[in-house]
Amino acid sequence: MKQTSCPVPDRLTDTVEMAHGGGGAMSRRLIRDIFAPAFRNQYLDRDHDGAIIKLEADASCIACSTDTFVVSPLFFPGGNIGDLAVNGTVNDILCCGARPRWLSAGFVIEEGFEISKLREIVSTMAEAARLAEVEIVTGDTKVVERGRCDGVYINTTGIGIVPPDLNIDPGCMRPGDAVILTGPVAAHGMAVMSQREGLAFGSGIKSDTASLCDIVANVLDVSRPRVMRDPTRGGLSSTLNELAEASGVDIGLDEQAIPIDSDVASACELLGLDPLYVANEGLMLIIVDPSEADRALAAARRSAHGGRAAIIGHVEATPEGRQSAVWLTLGLGQRRRLEMMSGEQLPRIC
Ligand code: MG
Repeated sequence: MKQTSCPVPDRLTDTVEMAHGGGGAMSRRLIRDIFAPAFRNQYLDRDHDGAIIKLEADASCIACSTDTFVVSPLFFPGGNIGDLAVNGTVNDILCCGARPRWLSAGFVIEEGFEISKLREIVSTMAEAARLAEVEIVTGDTKVVERGRCDGVYINTTGIGIVPPDLNIDPGCMRPGDAVILTGPVAAHGMAVMSQREGLAFGSGIKSDTASLCDIVANVLDVSRPRVMRDPTRGGLSSTLNELAEASGVDIGLDEQAIPIDSDVASACELLGLDPLYVANEGLMLIIVDPSEADRALAAARRSAHGGRAAIIGHVEATPEGRQSAVWLTLGLGQRRRLEMMSGEQLPRIC
């Protein structure tokens, strides 16, 4: 696998660059330097996939998350911007341990966009919402002049209910915890990439976009995960680096345990992309206490989209005096460090 790291400027640049939207180190810097200081509060400080808000009237909590979708092209093998927008937000709500219930949908549409395509996107959204058992309860439409946006952009915001007694928190992983991944990596990124470039090699690769309600419900039935997170932009490596940093731990992965389809692996190889940095849209990382690992894994495997779930590694203690890190053990036993993605590997992937 190839290294994808390149130097990151240590201060914010004067203008926004594509890499600021890539989900890697540049995105983190933009959030830390611009948004976090301005909006700072207890919810954002938790560095979660969504905000978990305690309701004043009783002890229950709601989870809230928002995401904007600008994928190009709008239609790709396995889905389109519509189901991507529903599934992405549903999965972020699930990461909070919440049952997703309600969504908003905001559309920015370019003048001249074909109504038949809009109809197809909207009907795919409706079907994705039906599958995830969420309702789209409010929305907004804006149209901008031709050339001022690229077809359609969609924002979805979701609200879910967190069961009492559940506390899923990126900051609470401990050495020994098992890292479960619910399916094969890199399918979404490579499906969009092959469609975008019109490449023949990727014709069989489909996006994994899916809502993961079934997996999460089954896993919560048998275990109390410490953290759940969907490894989307920036891929598995960037997501695990974020989690390691949030908990002040290391994570060790076994390369041979990470599921990947052979056609996806060949496509990555051909394009010089490391699949551990390529976006996924239907995967969940579930980190559990080692005593719960086997039953959580079995629960994931008997779920829709979880048949190839695997334990891909474990949480480790970070030695005194060094920062958290993620390590990959290769076939012959050598270990290499997996950095957070520094720039932008595949822009507008979601
Ligand atoms: Mg997420």
